[in-house]
Amino acid sequence: MTNKVSVDQDFCQAHGRCYAVFPDLFEPDDEGRAQVKNHGAVPESNTVDEILAVCPEAAITSV
Ligand code: SF4
Repeated sequence: MTNKVSVDQDFCQAHGRCYAVFPDLFEPDDEGRAQVKNHGAVPESNTVDEILAVCPEAAITSV
């Protein structure tokens, strides 16, 4: 089973922490809000918990 995450853009404050730390998983949209890459599939080298912990707005959720 593949672990996946998504971004709730209603909560995203577009400060870019997630795509600075995990550039293979997140990228900014035109307004700087995060969107997932590769359908949000968490790389094997990372855990879902450490991905969720990068966002102080709790905008990233496990799906
Ligand atoms: S860390 Fe959270 S609030 Fe900041 S850009 Fe990423 S998803 Fe948005």
